[in-house]
Amino acid sequence: MTHLQTRRGDITTVAVDAIVNAANSSLLGGGGVDGAIHRAGGPEILAACRELRATTLPDGLPAGRAVATTAGRLPARWVIHTVGPVYSRAENRSATLASCYRESLRVADDLGARTVAFPAVSAGVYGWPMDDAARIAVRTVVDAATDVETVVFVLFGDGAKAAFDQALSELAR
Ligand code: ADP
Repeated sequence: MTHLQTRRGDITTVAVDAIVNAANSSLLGGGGVDGAIHRAGGPEILAACRELRATTLPDGLPAGRAVATTAGRLPARWVIHTVGPVYSRAENRSATLASCYRESLRVADDLGARTVAFPAVSAGVYGWPMDDAARIAVRTVVDAATDVETVVFVLFGDGAKAAFDQALSELAR
């Protein structure tokens, strides 16, 4: 069974096998956690993303999918890039958000990663309400069939940490 933890902080500083990036489809960098990962990890990560675009992912990475690169100078060994759905009130995109977590864990299994850190995918610029994003994240990781032993949700800010702690406690009931 996968052990779930929450932590407040900056995911670029976390020493786990793999950290997950809330990337955009281009894989060529963005703001938020994506910008922070590229800044802290150095140019090797962007070079690996460009290589993916030039080879296996000419049209970019679709929402709900995940792909791994080097982590450059980061303490983690790998960055797993996933693309969250943009939140929509008109359309329920929860299955795509759940897929981000499931596919990231599948990629982690392929790498042999045993410890993985996630940010709150889609809950920044992509507008997903934090409480709902947290419930989907926690539920999907708990239900996933994976060899990953520890998942750490690394949350930027007290509100995000509280939302994930609440989602975890709802699960325990
Ligand atoms: P998205 O485009 O998927 O919404 P964002 O990067 O805009 O992705 O935001 C996702 C979440 O990551 C937000 O809650 C944001 O506050 C948080 N975040 C931003 N920078 C970091 C960081 N360095 N470490 C952890 N979480 C971060």
